[in-house]
Amino acid sequence: MKKTIVNGQEFKCYITHSKIKKRVVELAKAINKEYEGRTPLFIPVLNGSFMFASDLLKNVSIQSNVSFIKIQSYDGMKSSGKTKELIGLDHSIEGRDIIIVEDIIDTGLTMEQLLKAVNKLKPASVKVATLLFKRECLQKPIEPDYVGFEIPGRFVVGYGLDFDGYGRNLKHIYKAVLE
Ligand code: 5GP
Repeated sequence: MKKTIVNGQEFKCYITHSKIKKRVVELAKAINKEYEGRTPLFIPVLNGSFMFASDLLKNVSIQSNVSFIKIQSYDGMKSSGKTKELIGLDHSIEGRDIIIVEDIIDTGLTMEQLLKAVNKLKPASVKVATLLFKRECLQKPIEPDYVGFEIPGRFVVGYGLDFDGYGRNLKHIYKAVLE
């Protein structure tokens, strides 16, 4: 089993690049079929989804647009709770069929906030494509429409996902080696 060190921590290979690519092609095929005759707007969420979005979109054959976004958390001036703001959106969402592209859904808190923000902009429809889904960690009623792999609640790195900023470049997905 292939191992790697990321930022001093040992990880072992969990999902190989070839397995990921095969699955991503299947997801793209499902999207091509479901959105035939429509022009969805893909919204990949940076940084984690850059590899997934790239491989997915290379296999999307229907007409579409892409707008990468980042989610910025900030403390509101009046409220003590954190608010999420979408940055980088360069297409209008109103009346569009939106496909959010995420690397991983863990507790679902991020996706819940993201869906709230996107829905405020009056899209025609919103679906979620996530490469990884830790269903057992879910704390919010989120049901992604396209899921690459359901995985247990272990920390993973690679294929866009980082560990303290490192490891996004790894082409396989690795999981932490537990002592
Ligand atoms: P949430 O808990 O809100 O669903 O996930 C928030 C974010 O935590 C994800 O977008 C991702 O950036 C990060 N995250 C959750 N689980 C993992 C993991 O196993 N590995 C890495 N690298 N990031 C994770």
